[in-house]
Amino acid sequence: ENVDLRLLLLENISQDAVAAFRAQGFHVDHHAKSMSEDELVQVLPAYHAIGIRSKTKITARVLKAASKLLVIGCFCIGTNQVDLPAAAQAGVPVFNSPFSNSRSVAELVMGELVALSRQLFDRAYELRQGVWNKQSKGCWEVRGKTLGIVGYGHIGAQLSVLAEAFGIRVIFYDVLNIMALGSARQVESLDALLAEADFVTLHVPELPETINMISQQQLAIMKKGAYLINNSRGKVVDIPALIDALKSKRLAGAAIDVFPSEPGANGAPFDDQLNGWASTLRALPNVILTPHIGGSTEEAQRLIGEEVAQALTRYLDYGSTVGAVNFPEVDLRALTQEQGDHIRVCHVHKNQPGALKQVNDALSPYNVEKQFSDSKGEVAYLMADIADVSTEEISKLRELISNTRANILT
Ligand code: NAD
Repeated sequence: ENVDLRLLLLENISQDAVAAFRAQGFHVDHHAKSMSEDELVQVLPAYHAIGIRSKTKITARVLKAASKLLVIGCFCIGTNQVDLPAAAQAGVPVFNSPFSNSRSVAELVMGELVALSRQLFDRAYELRQGVWNKQSKGCWEVRGKTLGIVGYGHIGAQLSVLAEAFGIRVIFYDVLNIMALGSARQVESLDALLAEADFVTLHVPELPETINMISQQQLAIMKKGAYLINNSRGKVVDIPALIDALKSKRLAGAAIDVFPSEPGANGAPFDDQLNGWASTLRALPNVILTPHIGGSTEEAQRLIGEEVAQALTRYLDYGSTVGAVNFPEVDLRALTQEQGDHIRVCHVHKNQPGALKQVNDALSPYNVEKQFSDSKGEVAYLMADIADVSTEEISKLRELISNTRANILT
């Protein structure tokens, strides 16, 4: 039933995803490269769905031209490359894969705990330079130490379990009350966590209240000789304040994977032009700097392919918008065969008075078994399952609720 649906996949999206779509019967065109705005304006009108990574920009102009487009899949974490409000207004939900790399980040933090604690990178660097420097002073086991996790979400919780397996005591701070895993313990404030932890690791999103969440005042509360790890977002740590804390030996080391400004491409310099303090930070001992690789693993890439492909298929086959970033999240449990022939009406409309009445007037002659609608900003989305409808009635319905992106799924 999907043969009429044409998918355009750009930026070398994994062959697993291509195979999954083809198995579902979709017509798939796969390209290794991205496309420019002009190319997309030309090509996209022939497609019902597009899969992209971070390089393809889906602008309002592209969306306007793509009159058949039903859905966008970002096979990555970020969605800034898509004009999300314009897509929502055009009735096009956008899906991504926000949690597929949580485990990869948590594992990197485990490596960093040991590497910092043993000054691993400095010793390895010295020996690469031909210098033998065997040391035990200031080198510790992680066993029995206290790890403070700030933000106990997907990554923080995963890390909690891994750290306990190493014999590390885990405390965490989160704005929500979250059930602690294993023997971990939630503390009531960030300050309480900072005062108690030997390692502080940050796993919060970037929000107005998390920008510079770790600055001079917070670093001053941390234990002397503690370590800071940031694999969350670059702006969460005030780096000049961190540099001061490292220089004064208040902190014994830091691992930083994310930065306020990051180079746009591999090979580009990470220097003072980009971030005024870059050369100072690069020269400090026991500081591990990595180029935003927390989530960069083969496993995470594969999971992203599977997850986004599934989300697109669930939307195209069942209308489900669960997990959409710019759209109200709506889903219904499908009716069973015993409940007779039925169709599912999926309707996108403006979130304004009277809009729902129009749709419901159109549906009123039928037996609506289930219905659910929700709104997000200016966009509202309704899903209704209607039993016992004939083919003629389906085409009548199609006309009645004429809406550019209206979808009737049988
Ligand atoms: P998540 O949404 O699952 O969890 C975030 C947690 O932080 C939530 O429990 C939330 O309640 C909590 N939180 C929000 N504001 C807070 C505050 N002010 N104080 C304390 N807690 C607060 O997110 P996640 O998937 O675990 O990701 C965490 C961070 O890691 C995000 O910033 C994400 O962008 C980043 N990330 C980085 C990489 C990388 O490559 N380095 C990869 C994936 C994710």
